[in-house]
Amino acid sequence: MTDTFDLKHIWHPYTSMTEPLACFKVKKAYGVTIELDNGRQLIDGMSSWWCAIHGYQHADLDQAVIDQLQSMSHIMFGGLTHEPAIELGKLLLQILPPSLDKIFYADSGSVAVEVALKMAVQYWTAQGQNQKTNFVSPRSGYHGDTWNAMSVCDPVTGMHQVFGSSLPNRLFVPAPQSLFGGAWDARDIVELEQTLAQHHHSIAGFILEPIVQGAGGMRFYHPEYLRQAKLLCEKYQVLLIFDEIATGFGRTGKLFAWEHAQVEPDIMCIGKALTGGYMTLSATLTTAHVAETISRGEAGVFMHGPTFMANPLACAVALKSTQLLLSQDWQANIQRIEQQLKQQLMALADLDHVQDVRVLGAIGVVELKHPVNMQSLQQQFVERGIWVRPFGKLVYVMPPYIIRRDELDYLLTQLVEVVEQLQEALA
Ligand SMILES: *Cc1c(COP(=O)(O)O)cnc(C)c1O
Repeated sequence: MTDTFDLKHIWHPYTSMTEPLACFKVKKAYGVTIELDNGRQLIDGMSSWWCAIHGYQHADLDQAVIDQLQSMSHIMFGGLTHEPAIELGKLLLQILPPSLDKIFYADSGSVAVEVALKMAVQYWTAQGQNQKTNFVSPRSGYHGDTWNAMSVCDPVTGMHQVFGSSLPNRLFVPAPQSLFGGAWDARDIVELEQTLAQHHHSIAGFILEPIVQGAGGMRFYHPEYLRQAKLLCEKYQVLLIFDEIATGFGRTGKLFAWEHAQVEPDIMCIGKALTGGYMTLSATLTTAHVAETISRGEAGVFMHGPTFMANPLACAVALKSTQLLLSQDWQANIQRIEQQLKQQLMALADLDHVQDVRVLGAIGVVELKHPVNMQSLQQQFVERGIWVRPFGKLVYVMPPYIIRRDELDYLLTQLVEVVEQLQEALA
């Protein structure tokens, strides 16, 4: 099942080229099914890392791409514009925080984060505040793999060790400890206040993932943290940047996670599920005030312009995917998935080797006490016909929203059995 050329020559995410872990070759994917080369079918629990919310080969999304191909697949965005970018923009402004008014399309989540950080710096330099160039971020965050995105990821589980002093030095505050759905502990915000009070002269922005910290630990925290952070950012003149690349498009039970707190940022990044997982596209949105301030600055323009900016194929399928989501009772559907995740995963909560089980929206997380053997676990999941990709101590699922009750039942039953047996293996 492992392809020898692939094994020898092609890099996969975060893997070694001398001791690569086996990769399963996929022939096709449709609905919530991933079909391997050898004919084995897997129920998808990952949505291809938060993206494929409507599943694979959705007829409407396929058609949107085909239709767009009839006019153009790509055209440069410098000096030219097109309907897919405009129509997508109109729809995004309807569903994103009302204060956000200007849209910058970029090619991936990491680039959207780079763009957000650059906007924040240009905002301050445009006002002669050239010293406001640094950023604060909570620990356990994840914001992508490019240079500055890496610099604001968690400094321990992130990539700081590997890249050392080549990364800019950012300021970090503790990750919020008050849990979503639990009590608010005011001590959570103390260090942010101290850090801003001490360093605000050098800080351009505070960047974080609202409500759900994704790849940095799959943690769900209290909305009050965002309300307090907003007040502090206003008090100390620091821009508030929300990275909703993972949380967007219904995943947490709200269309976007800021709605849990009703706190609007100055800058926001979206990506991943934006195109329903069809191709790469992201966007960074900001307020008229930030955009106009940048534009009045010495540079006079915002200094970024990717080659594939607002790719028409990507915009067309993003428009269709978002329309498709909004045309359904998506909230009831996410609640349905949430209920079932709770019912079936909570069985694991009492096991000795399980630290915690948590569910929010269509995200289910089993945190173990010790890191898993990824290779072995992955193999077992595939043998049982499910696609779940654990990392570290976390075994988690975020299935496509189209998953049926019986399919989700199968996915979770198999996952639960494998996790239960981990204990026997340890004993
Ligand atoms: C995945 C992710 C990114 C990076 O997006 P890429 O498209 O992989 O570059 C940034 N922030 C968050 C919160 C993410 O989940």
